[in-house]
Amino acid sequence: MANTLKALETFLEHHRRLSQLISVLNFDLETKAPLKSFEERNKIISFYASERASISENEEFIRLIDALSKEKLNEPLSLFVKDQRNGIEHMAKIGSDRFFHWNVNIGKSTELWMKAKKEYDFSVVKEALRRVIEDKKEEANLLRKPDQKTLYDYFLNEYEKGMNEEKIDAVFGPLKEFLVQNLPTVLKKQENWKIPQILPHPKHEQEHLALDVLDLIGYDMERGALAETEHPFSDYVARDDHRVTTHYREDWRSSLFSVLHEGGHAIQFQAWGHTHYDNYVDGRASAAMCETHSRFFENVIGRSRAFSKALLNLCKTAFNSEFVAMTEDDFYKSINVVKPSLIRTDADEYTYCLHIIIRYELERDLINGKLEVDDLPKAWNQKYHDYLGIAVPADDVGVLQDIHWYEGLIGYFPSYALGNIYGTQILSAIKRDVDFEGALERADLKPILDWLNRNDFAIDYFDPDDWIMKVTGQKMDVSYFKSYLRDKYF
Ligand SMILES: [Zn+2]
Repeated sequence: MANTLKALETFLEHHRRLSQLISVLNFDLETKAPLKSFEERNKIISFYASERASISENEEFIRLIDALSKEKLNEPLSLFVKDQRNGIEHMAKIGSDRFFHWNVNIGKSTELWMKAKKEYDFSVVKEALRRVIEDKKEEANLLRKPDQKTLYDYFLNEYEKGMNEEKIDAVFGPLKEFLVQNLPTVLKKQENWKIPQILPHPKHEQEHLALDVLDLIGYDMERGALAETEHPFSDYVARDDHRVTTHYREDWRSSLFSVLHEGGHAIQFQAWGHTHYDNYVDGRASAAMCETHSRFFENVIGRSRAFSKALLNLCKTAFNSEFVAMTEDDFYKSINVVKPSLIRTDADEYTYCLHIIIRYELERDLINGKLEVDDLPKAWNQKYHDYLGIAVPADDVGVLQDIHWYEGLIGYFPSYALGNIYGTQILSAIKRDVDFEGALERADLKPILDWLNRNDFAIDYFDPDDWIMKVTGQKMDVSYFKSYLRDKYF
């Protein structure tokens, strides 16, 4: 077996170097590259993505993985081999030509999405999105397993192993009802809140705050970087290179919570350290497991009363002015106002999951052929009216606001809501061992980070069901999230 592993290393090294190259190219594309370079740049990225994918078609690579599949392996090696087998089967069915073609279509659609958003006009990107959705249906048709009842089930399982529409519906259905029904109670409770006026602050001040916040939550800047982008993201570029991006709006809260979110992702990346990397399981954590940690830092920590003092102090240093006389209570209120709104990434913690459920229902129907791309803006606007009670005035703040679908990400959106559910379940596990509020009040996150490192990040290469069971001793349970919201907002 040792010889097989040694021989395999050449392929894995090749795969890894290509992934790192793609990450760097993508980071540059999303932060600094000139707009007119996008078309060529997307072709370069597609080129390397195809080369990476073609490794799964290499006969020697397939022979080595087959040989390993027959061995009795320990975890995480067995999980790694299972993933590789999956990748090989997928590529055998897709073929590299088709894979390249799909990527080119995605590049085109991403480019047109930017143009459409600028022009507030969905019709600019409609045809390109239709092609991506058709490609996605083709992918699901090719790769769907017999136990996946719908085309969309295939995508759910890609992001969250073991997940399907039936299971999601059982969680999202009652959650939607809970959120919609109790929204008036929550709004009523906040009716008399006096929120300090939110004044605009220049970019350099917000950047100052962003760096201080990252430092406070334990992000290691010597292995990281902060850059400006339109649509914030974070990336595991390489072993000691875990980057964060944000955008700077007039309203300082937008960047603050983007930074906490992306910083949360990056803290998980940094916690994997060299062990996950050397075992080739860095990046095995599911999308929902990753969103668990980003949403945890953004909301459970970032929007808590206990952490308000620490964040207010950082705002005083970065912004001065109106923050000098602001009380902790005022600050807490200004970051916890519940207000049905248009933009998912700026949504309050309470209504956020409704934004996700809307996207889940729409992408599910698109892929299952129950909704046409032509009708997408109308369906989008209708659901915003029905669930959140608001009218969508234009496409850029409606169906064009998120890049996901235009980038070919179908099945990703539910991860954010699942992340909220996992996160609050993990919170109650942490509280069994750690004085959570005390740590936040002292602005000392070390006990919390230590707990996460030991009980969560160290084992987040397991499949989601196994992982949440190991971290909390229980299956995924939405009731933790509901009680968390009830305690905080009712
Ligand atoms: Zn995220």
